[in-house]
Amino acid sequence: MIIDGHTDVLWALTRENRKFSEESDIGHVDLHRLRKGRVFAAFFAVFPARSDFDIYRGVDQWFSLIEDQDNSILQVKTVEDINKCKMNDKIGAVLHFEGSGGIDSEFLTLKNYYRLGLRSIGLSWSNVNRFATGVTFNMLSGESFEQERGLTDTGKELVKELNNLGIIADVSHLNEKSFWDVIDQTSKPIIASHSNVYAICNHPRNLKDEQIRAIAETNGTIGLNFCVSFLSDNKKKDQIQLEDLKKHVDYIVELVGIDHISFGSDYDGATVPDVVKDVSYYPVLVDYLETNGYNKEDLQKIESQNFLRVMKEVWK
Ligand SMILES: [Zn+2]
Repeated sequence: MIIDGHTDVLWALTRENRKFSEESDIGHVDLHRLRKGRVFAAFFAVFPARSDFDIYRGVDQWFSLIEDQDNSILQVKTVEDINKCKMNDKIGAVLHFEGSGGIDSEFLTLKNYYRLGLRSIGLSWSNVNRFATGVTFNMLSGESFEQERGLTDTGKELVKELNNLGIIADVSHLNEKSFWDVIDQTSKPIIASHSNVYAICNHPRNLKDEQIRAIAETNGTIGLNFCVSFLSDNKKKDQIQLEDLKKHVDYIVELVGIDHISFGSDYDGATVPDVVKDVSYYPVLVDYLETNGYNKEDLQKIESQNFLRVMKEVWK
């Protein structure tokens, strides 16, 4: 039973004009494919969340989705809600903002979004906002990365406020300076909800060894991203094999142990390999890990226990 730390299904449903409750071969995530994939809970991103308008629209889409009974979704605000999902055969959905650009600097909107169920936030979606600096990664234009700017003073306060309220801070999409500023400020576990290993695939969205160690030291976790360009430097979607995904898992496990690796597929937000072509393919990957060195206890940690531990420590 899997918790997926990052999906862009909210965004994809609108873009692709399909229904969550109807099985489709468009995109990657819907109710039926989540069930086939044995995914019982996922983080649903409001994407992008760069401005107040993005957030108003995204939160409206979120409530339309969870209020529709046909979708069999239960909003997860507490760890107990996760158990309710299992008992009632519902899909658990965690409200996540992919970016903080629409939050005001006195955190009044943040507090209200917490009341509406916001439980996880990325401080930037690869852009520069009043709190943080993202890793801009327009590879084609060769756009330069913002190296010098990290968190602003208000951004540092934002991390404290997230800790106080009980919202998980997500460092995927931050540049290195912002990343280290978050590490300095946080007193709670953090996540990189959808990022991989830089030593294996040299992409600015991936994590260097010191960053992986620092996330582990907060007792946080890293969600394995299935995006082709974060998995391999040169293989295409039809060339990437399960072994290529496992390499990232192995690397993190060797560096910091089994307690800091999870899944954060980026389904419906990225081009993914054919071997895991939509969310119903999770069991294929899990079986592969099981036949190649991971025991049941390890797999439970990767599938859900590591995320559950972070939720228990950060949420109240
Ligand atoms: Zn993303």
